[in-house]
Amino acid sequence: RLVRLRSRLARSGALGQALLAVLGRDRLDEAAWEELEETLLQADLGLEPTTALLTELRTRLRVDGTRDPVAIRATLRELLLAQVDPTMDRTLATARREVDGTWLPATVLMVGVNGTGKTTTVGKLARLLVAQDQTVLLGAADTFRAAAADQLATWAQRVGVEVVRSDRDGADPASVAHDAVDRGVADGVDVVIIDTAGRLQNKAGLMDELGKIARVASRRAPITESLLVLDATTGQNGLRQARVFAEVAQLTGIVLTKLDGSAKGGIVVAVQRELGIPVKLVGLGEGPDDLAPFDPESFVDALLG
Ligand code: GDP
Repeated sequence: RLVRLRSRLARSGALGQALLAVLGRDRLDEAAWEELEETLLQADLGLEPTTALLTELRTRLRVDGTRDPVAIRATLRELLLAQVDPTMDRTLATARREVDGTWLPATVLMVGVNGTGKTTTVGKLARLLVAQDQTVLLGAADTFRAAAADQLATWAQRVGVEVVRSDRDGADPASVAHDAVDRGVADGVDVVIIDTAGRLQNKAGLMDELGKIARVASRRAPITESLLVLDATTGQNGLRQARVFAEVAQLTGIVLTKLDGSAKGGIVVAVQRELGIPVKLVGLGEGPDDLAPFDPESFVDALLG
């Protein structure tokens, strides 16, 4: 029976495993609480949320006087969900709008450090929107890396959308962004998604570049989303990047990539608390269909296993 239970535990979520192990004890002793704390911290929930959650859990269990594992699990679920904040608005602004008789596309700026999954996310988001019958145009404003525009073009082909790119390396990213929006207006597309370079050489340089892209791109149509792409596996380091980007760009949402195979899902809580910006999308793999709107309830359920 123990072997069966163990193999079931191995397949369940990280928190679920720890919780079951803890609840299997005769009583919730200090070692059990420490184990639970350790697990929440390892999942990158962050020190403050972890402490707050466990304090509340202890209080609730004392008040309820319950030892029923199902009830304890339900309480933990409720407290975790509160930390993820299900009340945050996570809808993507991707509807085009009519201004003075002209239809303007929604414009999505994708920002973040290289390697986090920005270009892949642009491709996957295009796929998601096309599946919702939206017309999409991509802009390859990451002109710094020669391969970046090619990678984006491959994605465009894969999901069946057009891409605006410069025909020379090192072109001005802002002018590519401008051309993409211009073309989006002319073609009457619903959404223009712009891939940007993620050079974190220094804050001033980044601010210059992103600021200019945003300014120039928004001359024709307002930017409706500025999404910061963060790699969930980089944990607290990702949080440091997020702080810099939040200072230099008007972020409207976060895309958390590589949540597949990562036990670091707690970073959702940490990053939302830190920036006060909702996680709107999650990356769950390298394939075209591996992007999903972030849903707090199913996220917490996956965490709990
Ligand atoms: P960029 O430099 O930020 O544009 O990053 P890329 O889009 O080139 O992605 C870097 C690597 O991360 C690539 O190998 C992607 O396939 C991979 N990647 C992107 N998103 C995900 C994800 O959600 N899950 C996994 N497992 N890999 C991802």
